[in-house]
This record gives sequence, structure tokens and C-alpha cells, in this order.
Amino acid sequence: VGLEFTDPARPRRLTAALVAPRPGLGVRLGSAAAVVVLLVAGVLVVYTTGGTRHPWLHMLYLPVLLAAWGLGPWGGVLTGIAAGLLVGPWMPLDVLTGEAQPAANWLYRLGVFTLVGGFGGVLNGLLRAQLREAQRARRRFAALLDHAPDVILVCDDAWRVREATPAVAAVLGHEPDELVGRRLGELLHPDDRDRWPLLHDGAPAGGAPAETELRLRHRDGTWRHLEVVVSDLRHDPDVGAVVVNARDVSQWRAMEAELRHQAAHDPATGLPNRQRFRDELRAALAPGGTGRPAILLVNLDRFKAINETYGPDTGDRLIAALAKRLARCIGPRDVLARYSGNEFALLCPDVDGASAAGAMAARVLERIREPFLLVSGEVRVQASVGMALADGGVDPADLISDAYTALRHAKRLGGNRHALYRPAWGARARSALRTEHALHGVLERGELELYYQPVVALDTELTVGVEALVRWQHPQLGTVAPSDFVPIAEQTGSIAAIGRWVLGEACRQVAAWRRQVTGGPLNVAVNLSPVQLEDPALIDDVLGALEAGGIQPAALTLEITETALLHDPEHAVDMLLQLKDVGVCIAVDDFGTGYSSLGLLHHLPVDRLKIDRLFTRQLGSGTADDTIVSAVVALGHTLGLETVAEGVETRAQAASLARLGCRYAQGFLYARPAPADRVTPLLSRTGRLG
Ligand code: C2E
Ligand code: CA
Ligand code: CA
Repeated sequence: VGLEFTDPARPRRLTAALVAPRPGLGVRLGSAAAVVVLLVAGVLVVYTTGGTRHPWLHMLYLPVLLAAWGLGPWGGVLTGIAAGLLVGPWMPLDVLTGEAQPAANWLYRLGVFTLVGGFGGVLNGLLRAQLREAQRARRRFAALLDHAPDVILVCDDAWRVREATPAVAAVLGHEPDELVGRRLGELLHPDDRDRWPLLHDGAPAGGAPAETELRLRHRDGTWRHLEVVVSDLRHDPDVGAVVVNARDVSQWRAMEAELRHQAAHDPATGLPNRQRFRDELRAALAPGGTGRPAILLVNLDRFKAINETYGPDTGDRLIAALAKRLARCIGPRDVLARYSGNEFALLCPDVDGASAAGAMAARVLERIREPFLLVSGEVRVQASVGMALADGGVDPADLISDAYTALRHAKRLGGNRHALYRPAWGARARSALRTEHALHGVLERGELELYYQPVVALDTELTVGVEALVRWQHPQLGTVAPSDFVPIAEQTGSIAAIGRWVLGEACRQVAAWRRQVTGGPLNVAVNLSPVQLEDPALIDDVLGALEAGGIQPAALTLEITETALLHDPEHAVDMLLQLKDVGVCIAVDDFGTGYSSLGLLHHLPVDRLKIDRLFTRQLGSGTADDTIVSAVVALGHTLGLETVAEGVETRAQAASLARLGCRYAQGFLYARPAPADRVTPLLSRTGRLG
């Protein structure tokens, strides 16, 4: 037929097998032979029925037929005419008359030969068209397979590849003929073997196609995710193989993995985020998890100040550099996460016990303290670490909250410290939370009350003033001491409103006493929280309270603890100067506990030093020496300040103080703090302070 599709440059592959001209010579000869047999049979029929005297001359139709076979319908007709013209006269035609009639004979032969040539040509043309159509259909199908992105493999019982489509080159990097003869199992990811046990058992079960997803190794060593459909066609005689249809879904899987990664990681540092950390912790604490891990919360000290000083960009760079540094000092099984802005969390499954956790925290703190070289120069930071150790059946959220409690504790120690959670702290933290809730609306409900404690002159024992001490009359808990709620009010910000109320109430009360009882001098001391000292509204609050009470500024003393003054001395000096302008007195409370430098004290516009109870307690006991108190009193003299001793409980203490030159005192010896109406009787004999 002359149809050749074989491309020698193409390797052997599934589609090549499809386009190979299988109906080649055999078919061609076969169909020609069929025609010849037909013809011979026709001649034999004519001969045996006595139709002709020269049957073998009829064999001359054969070359005509064969020529027509090669030349097509018109070539066949022409060959037939030529043969009829040439041979016709020599083939007698006794069928017609019994005697020779040359012209008719000749015409008859011409017609028959032409018919035979035409018949051969048409028959061949039909066959050829049919073959061509079959080839075209095969080519179309082959093109589909050649260009399909999916890989189709034909495998034998032992999963050896027999044929493969070209897509396998793009998906697995192997040319189809490289795969032929290899077992699919050689390319299979070890972890996926269980997902397709059929590959080991040899042959898949017949019936419905099996679907699965597995990884095969690309020639470059990477793994490709393939969605695979396996059809067992071994029972089909035309196929007799297992057909594997595989689609490359690696990109989808990579994209999914990327999305999952983004959802679980912090973009700035690439570390796992808070959500991921919780998941890891949950997994570690689950039954059958890693056991009893430790968690560390690492919080940068004064990070806000760093951001303000160097700018947020530097802050970000610092966090990124810190993340890298921390990542280097953890173990292979530890999980480091960015927990919040300036906070990292560390999950250490291998840390065993408190001392190991402490060592880990110390190492982390040390690494953090090493200077960072950033664009803006050398930056030094430090951090605080809160730790908690898991023990049986602990809830992840509780463990994190324990670590937070420990972190707060570490922070309170002044930074660059680590603390391990203790159960007692937890109880305290929970009660603080309850207090915080209960504090809401405490002023509106009128639950606060001021107690007053007289300040007396040591020599005359006359009352010269009172100190206002706040109390919370809680409906259930009864009287709550300020040390139990003032720190919480400071943290939650409600101290501003409470402080304002105390100022107003104290001024109102002292004005009433002055009018009704003493008729003259009486000083009231009000404690100021460090938070209030930082609030610019303080001046207005003070002015408002003085005005409402209608008292002279000099009748009001503001007590500020030494530590509050030390926190931000510049701002404190500024604030104190403004308060001095108003005309109120300033006392340094708890003096001696905050290690003030004397130089600083010299610059502070203060009027009074209150010697902390700690030192008073040592007096008169006969054991401890009294050098500190005498030094403080001497210092007061030098700087022109009055000294008031706090917490005087015994006559001996009072005598010692008087001997050392202290002029005023306050304590249970004279009076306990009490509500205003119970203090009123004590004010009948008053003196002037200062
Ligand atoms: P502080 O200013 O040092 O007050 C003196 C504390 O010593 C008072 O405790 C008082 O009851 C107690 N005290 C007085 N004399 C003696 C004594 O002889 N022996 C002993 N052992 N203690 C004595 P309180 O009232 O519990 O107050 C505690 C602290 O709470 C105060 O210490 C003060 O810093 C703070 N505070 C009290 N009221 C207020 C307030 O209205 N605002 C602010 N911001 N803080 C306040
Ligand atoms: Ca005080
Ligand atoms: Ca005090």
C-alpha cells in the first residue's frame, strides 16, 4: 500500500508501537491474493461449464489485475483497454457463434479487459482508503498519548515497565525507553510502600481501577507526588498488562505545603508562630508524646525603648538576628517559636528537671546579651525568661500560663533573670486576676475608704499630722489591705482614678478636722503611686483636691517612695518641681530601701524623709546597731530635711529615735490606722509639723 509511518529517530515507546505499519506487506499481498483466487475460481467455473476452449488464455487477466492493483481505478481501466486492444484478436470467442467473428470478438475482449482493470483499480482504491483511515485514527490516538501531560505506563505482572508515554520524561526525567524493563518499585518513596502494597505482592487485583497518591523519584533525586490510577487489564487479550495512569500533582502539593507553612510561621523570622508552638506543645504533652517537656518564654527587656530609640526597622532586624542566634543554641528536638512581638517560646522535650531548664535559660540569656551589630551600630539587649516544667496530665494552656507567671516574676527581679514557675505563684496570679475583676467599678460602688494614722512629735507626743491609708471594704473578703490591690490597680491603670479619689477625700477630711477639731494646723500625707507620678494630669488633680477642700497647699504632703524616684529621676525631678510650685510638701517614703545616691537626693526638691520600718525595727532590740538610722537622721540635718520614723511599736524604739535626733514618729505605739471618726478623738491635742 505504500504507507510508512515509522520514524527511526524516535525511540521505542507506546505510541510508536501504535503507528507501526502493521498491515504492511502481508495485508497487501493478502488482499491481492484474494483477488487472484477469485479470478482463478471464475475461470475454472467458465472452463468446467464448457464456456471456452482456451481457459488458460484467460490467465492474461491476471497481469492486468495486478497492474491495476498498483495503479488505481483509472490506471486499471487504461491497462485493461491496452490489454484488450493487444490481446483481444488472439483470444477466440466461440461462446457467441461457434466461429470466428474477429471484430465482435475483439470488442468483447476489450470490454472485458477494461472491466477487469477497472474492477482491480477500484477494489484496491477502496482497500487503500480504508487502510489510510485506520492509520489516521491510530496516529490521532498516538498524538493524544504523545502530548498528554499524564504519564501512562504499561507494566507486566512484576511491575516492570513495558511501555511508557513521552510525558514520563517531563515528570520523572527518564526517557521512556530508559524505563522499559525497570521495576516501578525502584522509584517508589520508601514511606509510600505501605500505601501501595500491591507493588510488592506482584500483581494488583483485577476489577475496579485502584486509586492512590504516592511519590516516585525523579532522575534528579527529588520526589514527585503522583496521583495514580491502576487498571488491571491482564485479562484483556489485546493488552494483557497492568496500565498505570499517573498525574504529576507535585506543584499542588508544594503549594499546599507552602500555604501550610505560611499559616504556621512568622514571616519576619521564619520561625514557627504561636499557633504552631501550641500545636507542638499539645503533641508533646499528648499521651505517647515526648514526655515531660520544659517550656521557656523569652521576653526582651525594654524592647519598647529599643524601638523608640533606634526605630522600628532596627527593632525588626534585631528580632530577626536574635531568632537566628537562638536557633543556633537549641537542641535538634527543641522547638523555637516567635510567640509575640518581643517574645520567643522554646519547647525543650529533652530538658529534664529544674536545674537543666535553669542551665538552658542561663545559656539563652548569655547569648542574648552578646552585642548585635546592626546597620545602626552596636545594640545590646537583655531578656527575661519564664520557665515551666510539665508533669503528668498538664494542660498546654495551663503550662503556658505558668510560664507567663514565672516570666512576670523574672521581670520583677529587674530583667536579665530567669525564673522557674512555682505553684504558689499560680495561686497568687489567679487571685490577682480575681482582684482585677472585682476592682472594676470599686469607686462607683463606694467600697473604698480612707484610714488615718497620726504622726506625732517624739518630744511632745502631740499629733502633728495624719497619713491617709486606703482600704477596700470588699463585700465578701472584708477589709482588703492596699498591698493586695494597689499593685494590681497600678497594672490595670485604675490607680489613676483611685489616686484622684484618695487625694480629694483626704483633703476634704483634713479640711473638716481643721474646721471642727483642731481649729489650726494639721497636715495630711497622701501616698502617691509611681504611676501617678508619671501622669501629667497629677498637677491638676492636686490643685483640684486642694481647691475642693479649701486648704492651704502646705497642709498636704505627698509621699513618694524612693524606688519611684529612682525609676526615672529626670522626669521625677521635673514633676517634683511642678508640685513644689503648687506649694505642697514632698516626703520620700520608705527611705533607705531603694539605695538612693546621696547626690540624687541633694537635687530632689523634698522636705521630709520617712525612715522605713525595717530600720526602726532594729532599734532598741539591743542586738542590731543603730548606725543606719543615725546616718539618715544626720543626712536629713545636713540637707535641711525633717525625718519621720515609721513603724514605731515600742517605747524603747521611740527613746532611741529621740536620742538619735529624729523628731517625728508614726506607729502602733501611738495609734493604728483607723477610720476618720475613730481618729477624731486623737486630734484634740495637736502641734505643728516642721
Ligand atoms: P506606707 O506608706 O509605708 O504605709 C505605712 C504602712 O505601715 C501602713 O500599711 C501602716 O498600716 C503600716 N504601719 C504603720 N505603723 C506600723 C507599725 O507600728 N508596725 C507595723 N508593722 N506596721 C505599721 P498599709 O496601710 O497596709 O499600707 C501599705 C502600703 O500601701 C503603704 O505603705 C503605701 O505604700 C501603700 N498605700 C496605702 N494607701 C495608699 C494610697 O492611697 N495610694 C497609694 N498609691 N498607696 C497607698
Ligand atoms: Ca506612706
Ligand atoms: Ca513607708
